Amino acid sequence: MADLQGRIALVTGASQGIGRACALELARAGATVALAARNEAKLAEVAAEIEGAGGQAAAFALDVASEESIKAGAKAIVERYGKVEILVNNAGITRDGLMMAMKRADWDDVLGTNLTGAFLLTQALLRPMLKNRWGRIINITSVVGRTGQAGQVNYAASKAGLIGLTRSLAREVASRGITVNAVAPGYIETPMTAVLDDKQRTAMMGAIPLGRAGTDAEIAASVRFLASDGAAYITGHVLDVNGGMFMGG
Ligand code: NDP
Repeated sequence: MADLQGRIALVTGASQGIGRACALELARAGATVALAARNEAKLAEVAAEIEGAGGQAAAFALDVASEESIKAGAKAIVERYGKVEILVNNAGITRDGLMMAMKRADWDDVLGTNLTGAFLLTQALLRPMLKNRWGRIINITSVVGRTGQAGQVNYAASKAGLIGLTRSLAREVASRGITVNAVAPGYIETPMTAVLDDKQRTAMMGAIPLGRAGTDAEIAASVRFLASDGAAYITGHVLDVNGGMFMGG
């Protein structure tokens, strides 16, 4: 069912993993998808995949760690499409380490990409969305932003920060027909988690009541739902998609 027919969407971190899956799913739902990330070659492959399946997509090189790049990328996307109606802030990185050993640069890189990047890109695209009086902002946070995780003070802080941003912005823009929600994945098999060793993987599995890792497609399905008209009355919500790993409500 093409429930997003004619909508303009932008997905950051669309070159692989969860972002790529979200882009494919939104395109399947009928949206025209702007694909943003740093790796242009990979973005072009995703765009070709979408177009090959009869969808519409275009690649935009954009580094969410750079304010200049965000401004230029947002401008290029708005020039091309006039507006962005569905914004999925998905780009994210990890730089793990225990608190005592964590370098300032690792803190700054993770907060800069995962939180400040989402703040700046949303700000750059909000005006046309407000004018349009319809919008969906979906931030990809993490179960770790809810529970904390040893070795990830930077990442958990960035993801908890995104939840605060989500709920505050939801209150600011609700009167303009814009909803702002977050999706909090648990353990999803992607290039980001491919670096985990067997011991870490086994420990993670033991903490998941459904007994398996999630897929990028399962995150994308939730994003599609939150972007749809069926989710029009949901805002400021954090949707846990984690196999029961955390049942916070
Ligand atoms: P991947 O590492 O597979 O993909 C990350 C994506 O982010 C890539 O497309 C990458 O593209 C992009 N990205 C990273 N830095 C930047 C940047 N500075 N500017 C633009 N794009 C950037 O991760 P996942 O798909 O696993 O994760 C996607 C999101 O989901 C992240 O926010 C992550 O924190 C979150 N998440 C993932 C979980 C998991 O288990 N996998 C669990 C919970 C949350 P490029 O390198 O081309 O720029």
